[in-house]
Amino acid sequence: MVVELISVGTEILLGNIVNTNAAYLAEKCAALGLSCYYQDVVGDNEERLCETIRTALSRADILLISGGLGPTQDDLTKEAAAKVLGKPLVLHERSKAAIQEYFSARGLEITDNNWKQAMVPEGSIVLDNPNGTAPGMIIEKDGKYVVLMPGPPGELMPMFEASVIPYLGRLQDAVIFSQTVKICGVGESKAETMVKDLIDAQTNPTIATYAKTGEVHLRVTARGADEKEARKLVKPVVKELKGRFESHVYTTEDAVTLEKAVVDLLLANKLTVSTVESCTGGLLAARLINVPGVSEVFKAGYITYSNKAKRRLLGIKKNLLLKHGAVSREIAEAMAIGASVLSKADVTVSVTGIAGPDGGTPEKPVGLVYIGCYVCGNLTVKECRFQGSRAKIRESAVSSALALMRECILKYYSEMTFGNKEK
Ligand code: ATP
Ligand code: MG
Repeated sequence: MVVELISVGTEILLGNIVNTNAAYLAEKCAALGLSCYYQDVVGDNEERLCETIRTALSRADILLISGGLGPTQDDLTKEAAAKVLGKPLVLHERSKAAIQEYFSARGLEITDNNWKQAMVPEGSIVLDNPNGTAPGMIIEKDGKYVVLMPGPPGELMPMFEASVIPYLGRLQDAVIFSQTVKICGVGESKAETMVKDLIDAQTNPTIATYAKTGEVHLRVTARGADEKEARKLVKPVVKELKGRFESHVYTTEDAVTLEKAVVDLLLANKLTVSTVESCTGGLLAARLINVPGVSEVFKAGYITYSNKAKRRLLGIKKNLLLKHGAVSREIAEAMAIGASVLSKADVTVSVTGIAGPDGGTPEKPVGLVYIGCYVCGNLTVKECRFQGSRAKIRESAVSSALALMRECILKYYSEMTFGNKEK
């Protein structure tokens, strides 16, 4: 089935707000196997809104419309949809009661225009809005479906998940299931080459590669008569990908990020961690600390940006800094060792590099980053060369540091004789 997205709001047209609803809905529709050929943005103008709805109805089966459902004068979406579909607005008792309850529970006074939100096009399926007052609506006419949802993402997203997805699922004769194989420590082009034969031969399931900073995600999507069938089609492809990328696969779960995978690895092995950063200035520590439960393992994060801080805090010798420069393999090593002595953590990661845009030389260009990883007495230093803006280089360095931590911890355990772990 073909879906068309209509985002209503002059604020979007003027660039005052970013159309995140369209991005969210488009991604969800793709996952549901719905084809989307057009996305429209229209201001709060009844005539142009009617025109947009009419055009969209001429080329799509399902219209997903967001915004303009509120109580104010410029909220016109419902009126426009009712007009185009030739349905009068009628009072919806359950919505009226819900509005009454919403306002009483918050001790707010109801103004007359609030009742406008209890009016719905005749014959609509009314969708509850537990996070606001404007209910959603699904209106069917001549085998086409118009879905109206409130503009605030905090209201639209839960409504879409709870009410619209199940409805759309029933309309379709197929179920879509996808699973993502997340990979770190392998570059995008290498990953693509490694799966090119699978991609070339794909029909159902399909494999899509998404390059993220420092990671590659391979999304396997299958269409089946029911979820069981779709899952069954996805399973062998995911198994094949896991076999090809081996330990570089850090998860196949949507909710697991690279930092969560690293923290889980530390937790599982009862390893504590500390970070010591120069050019990333705390970004690595921040990404790890984003993970709930990290307090069990995270000991300390040091930002030693200046040479003085590297000397004073970490005890790095002035001569070493003069001889090799702050961005060098030797200093990445000394930073990791210095911070591990200070923190007494089992794992310590250091980052030193040139984030730019200035400060590069022919021998040490912008984007040169050294990452040190110290795991229970074993030290590894990796030299990386990143491209892009200062922000991009710093972000790449953080992702690579996480990938290196994971790699070094796994290597340490695979080389260690069982029961001989020194702590
Ligand atoms: P309200 O009852 O809050 O007026 P509404 O359904 O009438 O809800 P709008 O008035 O169109 O929605 O938008 C309200 C707010 O919702 C906007 O100020 C904006 O913050 C957010 N919003 C609206 N449309 C979008 C969109 N397409 N993407 C992201 N945010 C949006
Ligand atoms: Mg509004």
